[in-house]
Amino acid sequence: MDDLMDYDDAMAAYDTALGLEVHVELNTASKMWCGCTTAFGGEPNTHVCPVCLGLPGSLPVVNGKAVESAIRIGLALNCSIARWCRFARKNYFYPDMPKDYQISQYDEPLCFDGHVDVEVDGETHTIEIERVHMEEDAGKLTHVGGATGRIQGADHSLLDYNRAGVPLMEIVTKPVLGLGEKTPQVARAYMSLLRDLMRALGVSEARMERGNMRCDANVSLMPKGSSELGTRTETKNVNSLRSVEGALTFEIRRQAAVLGAGGRVTQETRHWHEEGHTSPGRSKEQAEDYRYFPEPDLVPVAPSPEWVEQLRATLPEPPAARRARLEREWGFSELEMRDVVAADAVGTIEATVAAGASPQAARKWWLGELARRANEAGVELDAVGMTPAQVAELQGLVEAKTINDGLARQVIDGVLAGEGSPPEVVDARGLAIVSDDGALLEAVDAAIAANPDAVAKVRSGKTQAIGALMGSVMRSMKGKADAGRVRELLAERIG
Ligand code: ZN
Ligand code: MN
Repeated sequence: MDDLMDYDDAMAAYDTALGLEVHVELNTASKMWCGCTTAFGGEPNTHVCPVCLGLPGSLPVVNGKAVESAIRIGLALNCSIARWCRFARKNYFYPDMPKDYQISQYDEPLCFDGHVDVEVDGETHTIEIERVHMEEDAGKLTHVGGATGRIQGADHSLLDYNRAGVPLMEIVTKPVLGLGEKTPQVARAYMSLLRDLMRALGVSEARMERGNMRCDANVSLMPKGSSELGTRTETKNVNSLRSVEGALTFEIRRQAAVLGAGGRVTQETRHWHEEGHTSPGRSKEQAEDYRYFPEPDLVPVAPSPEWVEQLRATLPEPPAARRARLEREWGFSELEMRDVVAADAVGTIEATVAAGASPQAARKWWLGELARRANEAGVELDAVGMTPAQVAELQGLVEAKTINDGLARQVIDGVLAGEGSPPEVVDARGLAIVSDDGALLEAVDAAIAANPDAVAKVRSGKTQAIGALMGSVMRSMKGKADAGRVRELLAERIG
C-alpha cells in the first residue's frame, strides 16, 4: 500500500498544478463517421457497419451535427473557433477499435483558448481551456473470468463494437495553478459545471455512470514558492464527481509522501479504485509515440464565420447567470444555494420544480433523504434511482396528506426497489394515511387508556408529555396517521 501524507501537511509544503481532460459522448442520432445508431446498449455488435468495423475499403464521412455540437461546446466555453482544421490519425494498438487508429485532432483543434468560471465556497476560480477537439469513442471490452473484471486473470475477453465510432469531444484545460487545498473541490465543481452545461446545450446526456462523460485527472506538486512544475500523474477515466475529488485528494497525498521522503514521482497513468485509492497503469506515452498524421480519408473542416455566429445565438444562459437567476427565482439564501451547488443538485432541483414541486420541497428531498441514499449507494444524486418527476409526485402526495414525511421515506424505499411510481408504491404497500376519524379515535382512546401517567401530566400543564401519547398512537397506526390530526384528537379527548 502507498504511503500517504496527511492532506493538511501536504498542502502546507506543496503547491499543485491541476489539469483535466474530459471526454464527452455526444447524443447525435448517428455515429461520427457512419450512419450507425449511437443508442446505448443493444445486443453486442448490432450497431455496426463496415465503416465503424474498420473494414478495408470503407470510408468515413464527418457527422455534421457532431461538428455543430462541438462548435457550440467551444463557444459556451468562450473558445475561439478554427476557420480551418483537419482530423488526425492517432495510431496505437487499440483492441477495442478495429482500425487500430483513432480519428482525432492533433495540432489543429476545432476550438481553442477558452475559459470558464467555477465557484467553490463563494469563491470564483477561472479555468482556462486549452482546446476542445473532435474524435471517436472506442468499443467495449469485457474480461470474463477472474475475480476483478480486469484483463489480469481473465479467461477470455469479449468485444462489443456498438460504441466504436460514437462522437466524442475532448475538452482539455490548461494547467490550473494556485488552487492549493481547494484543488480536488475545484476539479469536482468544474466537472459538475461541464455536466450541467452539456445538458443545457442539449449535446450530451452527460451521465458519468454510463461513461457519457469521463475525466482524466492529472496533478503534480511543487514545493511551495517554486514555479517549476513537478512530475504529474494522470488518473484515467474517472467516472463520477466524487471519484474525481477522491482521486485527486489521494494523488496529492501519495505524491507528497513520495517527495517528502526524497523520492521522485513517476510519470504514469493511474487507475482509480472505488475503495479509495489509485494504482499504477502504464508509463505514459509521449505524443510522438502515436505517430499522428493528417487523416487522408477526410476533408478539412472549415466552418464559415456566419455559421459560427448563428450557433452562438443558440447558446443557453451562461452557468453563472443561470445559478444567480435560479437562486432568485427559488427564493433561496446564498448559503442554501451554495449547498445545492456543492451537492451537484442544481439541474436535478430545476427538473423537480419543473415537474411541479416547490423549490424548498425539492431541495429538502434531494439534499436530505436522497443525498443520504446516494451517499450510501456510492452513486451520484442523479443516478440514485428516483427521477425528478417522481420526487415531485412524492411531494404532491405529502401535500395532499395522502402520506406524511415518515411514510414518504418508505415510498422512496419502494421506488428505489423498482416497485413503481410513488402512487403505485403507496397502493401496493398500503401506506396511505388513515384519515377516517373512527379508526384514529380508537387508537387515541387506546393510547389514553394505556398511558395514564402521561395523561395526568398533560392535564397538569406539562404539555410536552403529549409526545408519548402521540408516539403510542403513531406506533399502533404503523405511522399511517396525520400527526396534526392525532394531536387535535388527543387534545379533544384529554380536554
Ligand atoms: Zn457504423
Ligand atoms: Mn481522447
